[in-house]
Amino acid sequence: MAPGLDGDVAMAGLFCQEVLRENPRAISVLWFGDPDLTMHNAQIGSPAHMAALTRIDALVGDVAATIDAERAKGDDILFMVGSDHGHETVGYGINVAGWLDENGFGKLRETGQMSFATQGTAALLYWRS
Ligand SMILES: [Zn+2]
Repeated sequence: MAPGLDGDVAMAGLFCQEVLRENPRAISVLWFGDPDLTMHNAQIGSPAHMAALTRIDALVGDVAATIDAERAKGDDILFMVGSDHGHETVGYGINVAGWLDENGFGKLRETGQMSFATQGTAALLYWRS
C-alpha cells in the first residue's frame, strides 16, 4: 500500500486488532506517515494539513479507545504518542551553493576547501584553511 492517510487508516486497524487485541507484545510501535507526509508538501494550517491532522487525531483516538478497552480487561499498558520532528512554513529560501558561488566562494567550494551541510532550515558552513 502506498504511504499516506489511507495506509495509516489500514495500519491503525491492523494494529488495534492484531497487535493490541489478538497478540499483545511487551513493546509495540505504530508509526503513522501522516501528518508528516502531508506537511512536507502543504503549508501549516492549510486545508490539506488540517484534514490530515483531523484524520490522524481520529486514528490516535481509535488506538486510545482500544487500549482503554484492553486496560479494562486488566492489561497494564503504557501509551505514548510522539513525533519525530516538527514543521514550519518557510517563506523564502536560498540556494546555498548558488549563494556561495555568487559571493566569491565558488572556487573554494569546488575544491572542497569550503563545504556546507543543510539541516532543516539551517546550513552549517565548513572552511578548511
Ligand atoms: Zn518528515
